[in-house]
Amino acid sequence: MVAVCAHPDDESFGLGAVIDSLTAAGTSTAVLSFTRGEASRLHGAAGDLGVVRATELAAAARALMVSDVLLLDHADGALPGIDLDILVDDVVRYATAVGAGGFLVFDLGGITGHPDHQRATEAALLAGERLNLAVIAWSIPVSVADSLNGAFGTAFAGRTEAEIDIVLRVDRSAQKRAIALHASQATDNPVLWRRLELLGDTECLRWLRRPSVTG
Ligand SMILES: [Zn+2]
Repeated sequence: MVAVCAHPDDESFGLGAVIDSLTAAGTSTAVLSFTRGEASRLHGAAGDLGVVRATELAAAARALMVSDVLLLDHADGALPGIDLDILVDDVVRYATAVGAGGFLVFDLGGITGHPDHQRATEAALLAGERLNLAVIAWSIPVSVADSLNGAFGTAFAGRTEAEIDIVLRVDRSAQKRAIALHASQATDNPVLWRRLELLGDTECLRWLRRPSVTG
């Protein structure tokens, strides 16, 4: 399963518990990040943010027992301006190289509303079409989104129960270790900690694409 992400930390802050569940169930996982996350407003570690975050991603991936990581160098914050074909080709090439059986992505709407997240999901969906692979989205319940938006003025997009296909019971210990390794982003991030608290030991998934059966 290839997690297709916009930024280093998306695989941990967002998908970490789901990735850990997949690994625990014997599924091999890989992470593609389109950017180095150099444009983040959070800068809780000294040094060039693009370099710092590449190192953080490598360590977090080890904590989540991710088998392979591809860190691309598209401009952080600018994914919607990049030709979609280029991004889809990136995903197809990587998926082929690692023998992907499906993609794990942020929900349509990007969870936080970040345009980069939405673009990453759009690219993975088209790659899924091209390769006839499943695309499954990490989603958050509308109650969690509303609670965060009310408290923090954020723009989280949640899903109703009817829109959610799978509810996973998760253990967050590996995710929390991975998050801590993204020190530049995790040290001053109350929204993240509140979200994890609200989600508790469950994560929600939605199918964005099921592979069609041929023949
Ligand atoms: Zn992100």
